[in-house]
Amino acid sequence: MSEEVVSKNFIENIIDKDLEEGTYSEIVTRFPPEPNGYLHIGHAKSILLNYGIAKKYGGKFNFRFDDTNPTKEDEEYVQSILEDIKWLGADFGGEVLYASNYFDQMYEVAIKLIKKGKAYVDDLSADEIRQYRGTLTEPGKNSPYRDRSIDENLKLFEEMKDGVYPDGSKVLRAKIDMASPNINMRDPIIYRIARMTHHNTGDKWVIYPMYDFAHPLEDAFEGITHSLCTLEFEDHRPLYNWVVEEAEFPHPPKQIEFAKLYLTNVVTGKRYIKKLVEDGVVDGWDDPRLVSLAALRRRGFTPESLKTFMELVGISKSQSSCDYAMLEYCIREDLKPKAPRYMGVLRPLKLIIDNYPEGQTEEFEIENNSDNPEAGNRKITFSKELYIEQDDFMEEPPRKYFRLFPGNEVRLKGAYFVKCTGFDKNEAGEITAVHATYDPETRSGSGFEGRKVKGTIHWVNAADAVSAEVRLYENLIDEEKGKLNEDGTLNFNPNSLEVVEAKLEAASGEMKPGEHVQFIRNGYFVVDTKDSTPEKLVFNRVVGLKSSYKPEAK
Ligand code: ATP
Ligand code: MG
Repeated sequence: MSEEVVSKNFIENIIDKDLEEGTYSEIVTRFPPEPNGYLHIGHAKSILLNYGIAKKYGGKFNFRFDDTNPTKEDEEYVQSILEDIKWLGADFGGEVLYASNYFDQMYEVAIKLIKKGKAYVDDLSADEIRQYRGTLTEPGKNSPYRDRSIDENLKLFEEMKDGVYPDGSKVLRAKIDMASPNINMRDPIIYRIARMTHHNTGDKWVIYPMYDFAHPLEDAFEGITHSLCTLEFEDHRPLYNWVVEEAEFPHPPKQIEFAKLYLTNVVTGKRYIKKLVEDGVVDGWDDPRLVSLAALRRRGFTPESLKTFMELVGISKSQSSCDYAMLEYCIREDLKPKAPRYMGVLRPLKLIIDNYPEGQTEEFEIENNSDNPEAGNRKITFSKELYIEQDDFMEEPPRKYFRLFPGNEVRLKGAYFVKCTGFDKNEAGEITAVHATYDPETRSGSGFEGRKVKGTIHWVNAADAVSAEVRLYENLIDEEKGKLNEDGTLNFNPNSLEVVEAKLEAASGEMKPGEHVQFIRNGYFVVDTKDSTPEKLVFNRVVGLKSSYKPEAK
């Protein structure tokens, strides 16, 4: 019996201690996206972390739209985020929560703070507030409105809510400490006046809470115990704690920060992805070269591969960039036993078997997946005219080239040995067909042991081959030469997309959008979910077969 060594991340250690000490009895986590863009691989890390913890501790996982800022939000994003989270399999119990549903409760907390003398209405302009705030090295100054009476503050705040004052003319601020070394604690603004129509609350509100006030309250209202966020919020934690303490929650949530996920050779970050889409560098949010979840799904990544990847990456407090090759490793491992292995020729060249009878077709039985006997066998057909890869033939081969060249014999995978007898060239000097003879003795499965050949190549039967568009991808950014150019723009890889017209074995024609296949020697592919039709199949290459990443031995 092998004993499993369970190593815990630093967040789980904190949770264990909290449970032991009775700080909380049930663990509740959440994922709170702002509906202002598509989710990307970094969000998947956050989702799987939060969901994984809730599941591990038999707790609850909440899914909440952080929709307190009406300007940037969009229904399109709401729908895509829902689709992504379902795809990842993060079960939030079916109830979608909205921060905007708590606007009334948030308003009540603001009143409570005013009554405690912990919040005040300020008439300073935005510019003045900035000037009064001080700098990293100098303390701020108190606003002349800071000492308004509680009654006056209550009256003014109510009038703010009732629409008495124009946008931007007044704010509600927390009364903390203008001399705090932490600028976030220098009387942060907690409510602003802004006449904006909100997708959920319509025109009910003309005042909206600020993120640093709203977020801890949303967590507290839902009974979140551990509010996991990324490192940039570390300096906001004192304010988070201040809000939940002053609001007097009996079991306030705890904010814990972890490092964001970054990947080499790609663009993460909602704003950056958005810019690529808007600039037309890529073809929409789900362009398979992006790492938005919609794009990864379309490219052929699976939820399982992302889970494995996140486990490999782990959770830490130090910022670092992960090698994209690691993500590729994870999808290969996932697809290895699952995807059938077919033959497909990406850049077709005719191979004519001159001594094979005209009009004859024979069948060969071939295994679907050499790593998975349960995947069974299938039949492929063979006849006089086949397709092979252009680079599996060379007129004048270099040393150690074991594939087809005049006079050389190779094995056609699953079929016969063939010997190259010549080739045809057109007037432009391009090779248009290769000629060969086959040896009937060498039929696959016949037990032939007469001689050996060094090269095995794949092929498809021209008579029943399926034509398809195949999209071959490389990383969007060429990081070898540095992520940025001298002028600060991104250093795009000009070869990030290549489109070829491939010839695939007949079984490929039955494949449905989203299904995976390995085309042997060429990599893993998926039928494109957006552009593929039964008449015109489109495949995306998920990943090649060679790996530059080796997992560390455990
Ligand atoms: P971006 O940084 O891409 O603009 P965001 O943080 O603005 O994303 P939100 O919708 O606010 O996007 O994020 C929802 C949650 O996802 C937050 O808790 C945030 O910390 C987390 N998150 C965002 N990016 C990453 C990342 N790269 N790695 C891990 N978690 C992330
Ligand atoms: Mg954000």
